[in-house]
Amino acid sequence: MKIVGNYINGESVASASTRTAPVFNPATGEQTKLVSLATVSETEAAISIAEQAFHEWSRVSPLNRARVMFRFKALLEQNIDQLAEMITLEHGKVLSDAKGELTRGMEVVEFACGIPHLLKGEHSLNVGRGVDSFSLMQPVGVCAGISPFNFPVMVPMWMFPIALACGNTFVMKPSEKDPSVIMRVAELLKEAGLPNGVFNIINGDKEAVDVLLNDSRVQAVSFVGSTPIAEYIYATGSKNGKRVQALGGAKNHMIMMPDAEVDQVTSALMGAAFGSAGERCMAISVAVCVGDETADRLIDKLQQEIADMRVGPGSGLAEEAHMGPLISKVHAEKVTGYINSGVEEGAKLVVDGRGFKVDKHELGYFIGPTLFDDVKPGMRIYKEEIFGPVLAVVRVGSYQEAIELINSHEYGNGTTIFTSDGDSARQFCEQVQVGMVGVNIPIPVPMAFHSFGGWKRSVFGPLNMHGNDGVRFYTKMKTVTARWPKGQQTTNSFSMPTMK
Ligand code: NAD
Repeated sequence: MKIVGNYINGESVASASTRTAPVFNPATGEQTKLVSLATVSETEAAISIAEQAFHEWSRVSPLNRARVMFRFKALLEQNIDQLAEMITLEHGKVLSDAKGELTRGMEVVEFACGIPHLLKGEHSLNVGRGVDSFSLMQPVGVCAGISPFNFPVMVPMWMFPIALACGNTFVMKPSEKDPSVIMRVAELLKEAGLPNGVFNIINGDKEAVDVLLNDSRVQAVSFVGSTPIAEYIYATGSKNGKRVQALGGAKNHMIMMPDAEVDQVTSALMGAAFGSAGERCMAISVAVCVGDETADRLIDKLQQEIADMRVGPGSGLAEEAHMGPLISKVHAEKVTGYINSGVEEGAKLVVDGRGFKVDKHELGYFIGPTLFDDVKPGMRIYKEEIFGPVLAVVRVGSYQEAIELINSHEYGNGTTIFTSDGDSARQFCEQVQVGMVGVNIPIPVPMAFHSFGGWKRSVFGPLNMHGNDGVRFYTKMKTVTARWPKGQQTTNSFSMPTMK
């Protein structure tokens, strides 16, 4: 069976590790590969290679680093079909969704192509007489990225294109559940002209992650995954003096106001709740309906739309499925457990996706779209992130009640309001305690030139992913104050210097 190893110094290399994890095709349940789980010494060796490569790469001009990114972007476009197929085979999402993921990742590469402009720094002329001050943005050194299974290309591409364009070198630790596609991306980076050793991949688990968190040569750690691990990464990396950005889990609410158009809300919710089988950190998993009549109209329309959904393998069908399988058997069982708990706690199960079978794919990890009504804030299906195709409808009496509900939830990643009233929308944008907010937009994922990140327990660390925050995260600011006092008289002064 094929074993996925590591990518070090511009080459795919077999791992010496005796530990492996199975990789599955979630649509069939068939094990397709093994992935090696890197040892401590392999991870340390990857850091050494990245450290050696930093010396040269950090001196390459930003313009030439950007040129690598331009070529990389072109190669990603040329290879999009192959990359999407690789995502679908290990993650399970449908091909068009996999291409969407790649496109959003490529947008960060496009942003990184503008790095000469982004690294211009700041300059002040004559901060004092004959004194100028300027700020430089310099690379931090070896950076590490640790990513989740649900976006095996896009999330790593939130990280490394900007890190590399800023002049850093990188060690990536992808999810062990779908490790193959990022190995191919590494080859494309090399083809684009990236020198060996600048980008490396360590496939592994906690053992490799702990090396990245504890090795003093790693300067910055970017993490995306579940909240308990994000918290651990932030605490450990920070304790060791590293800069850390750690994005965690989510429970994203959509408010439907009585004046919202039910057709628009329903079509937005179908994709936002069930696209990628709900395995998106920006998926909408709670619809908060203001008024019973609003809720009744929505439930009615959702039921009709759900009945028309095609659930099946992510590729190979004459007509593409809307939704594929979940990532693993264990995860599908976990999601089924949540549906059971919703029933036990008294929510009304309107559409039941448990035990969903797909023809000729009986061992695939499928769960059908699931809809609950009358969900209450104390229930587990409301409080916890399910990360599956399960939509909970909560009924409230007023906008105020809706916003209080959102603001008291532990997560604050994304949210949205559907309304035709500008005043409600404006209030919502101002009052809601969430990092990424939509108005009549189902999944308000910021573009690459803005920054991505939530609030509350959806994020740890002050700087978000990509956009200006990304550039600041991967650079150290140095401020120089200078004068050229040829022939000027100088006198000793022992008081705090002030500019005259
Ligand atoms: P996960 O936390 O299980 O794993 C993420 C990464 O951490 C993987 O690379 C994994 O190998 C590593 N890891 C797992 N356990 C570890 C441990 N004990 N110590 C050190 N490293 C460990 O997450 P997942 O299941 O792969 O992904 C789903 C989660 O990611 C969801 O909670 C989802 O909301 C979240 N997510 C968040 C965002 C965001 O932007 N906020 C984006 C995508 C996914």
